[in-house]
Amino acid sequence: MALRVGVIGGGQLARMMIAPAVELGLELQVLAEADGMSAQLAASAVGDYRDLEAVRAFAADVDVITFDHEHVPQEILRALVADGVVVHPGPDALQFAQDKLVMRAKLQELDVPQPDWAAVRTADELQVFLDAHHGAGVVKTPRGGYDGKGVRVVRSAAEAQDWLDDLAAADALLVEELVPFVRELAQQVARRPSGQIVAYPVVETVQRDGVCAEVIAPAPAASERLSQVAEGIGRRIAEGLGVTGMLAVELFETDDDRILVNELAMRPHNSGHWSQDGAVTGQFEQHLRAVADLPLGSPAPRAPWSVMVNILGGPQSGALGERFDGAMAEYPAAKIHTYGKEPRPGRKVGHVNVASDDLDDAVYIARAAAAHFL
Ligand code: ADP
Repeated sequence: MALRVGVIGGGQLARMMIAPAVELGLELQVLAEADGMSAQLAASAVGDYRDLEAVRAFAADVDVITFDHEHVPQEILRALVADGVVVHPGPDALQFAQDKLVMRAKLQELDVPQPDWAAVRTADELQVFLDAHHGAGVVKTPRGGYDGKGVRVVRSAAEAQDWLDDLAAADALLVEELVPFVRELAQQVARRPSGQIVAYPVVETVQRDGVCAEVIAPAPAASERLSQVAEGIGRRIAEGLGVTGMLAVELFETDDDRILVNELAMRPHNSGHWSQDGAVTGQFEQHLRAVADLPLGSPAPRAPWSVMVNILGGPQSGALGERFDGAMAEYPAAKIHTYGKEPRPGRKVGHVNVASDDLDDAVYIARAAAAHFL
């Protein structure tokens, strides 16, 4: 019988595991939040991932549980493990992707380079940190943030007063130094439960309004040293935190050549979509291999350059199909991936991958194809 992989969450990351699961001969089942989600094709159940009984019932029919997102509460993950369910990544690793304060403390323990940071509970504590860091900082809610929500640059404690007011008794906010980065990078590695690790080339990511817009793989002008440092950080975190499956490490590169860790994702990640069409083993296949504890595939690029451009829902919604037709007709070299989601302004509804010998060509074609959807 085929190994059954259960994915909690029915978004586009689960959707993009479907084709590689078929290729690998795995049976993929998805616990979707609602009908009509992006991963509908493999949805075998609809239920709330915060409802222990719903998750338990789903887990009873699969051999390994993995995730489309990191929001499944620790109590539920731990209950599954206590039931004997195989969960990858497990709760001990996932906690570091669920709570940025827990992550900062752990990375400090592992001596991984990161921005200066502190946990703050009051305006006074926040102001002390800002005063010690040129009067500026980045305040973050430790849990539940994504795509820049829950991240705020502040120049006085008063600018975070609403978040401080909302803090529950036991909670704190994370404040970090405002890093003067020259660009953002991402390093992905995959790790099997049995310990094998492979590393993808470090990539450059470009965010707009806190949302990933474009990725270039490998990161242009990445020196041998930069690539090695980034890969070393990825491996150290995967091993140190016991990550299983895909790990993405978001990084800042500074003008004095330092590499600092911004945050972690323990699942396929937007910074790795290029690998679907640009690497020997795409990140969705790799994630499945890793969580099923199968031998990992080569992460080597298949072309000198790969470019990924996200398709965000524009001001005019609807009629996505016609625009796909136009983009496909005009740019046959572009690989267009659609998520089956209703377009709303700013919502990720697909992406374009282009692999090429020529970086400028790849950037041009990927942007032009994606522009059909604006
Ligand atoms: P999210 O969890 O919402 O993705 P991040 O922590 O990745 O939030 O922050 C979103 C963006 O904010 C980053 O991609 C980066 O551009 C900027 N940012 C975050 N932390 C810092 C920092 N310490 N210094 C400078 N910019 C930052």
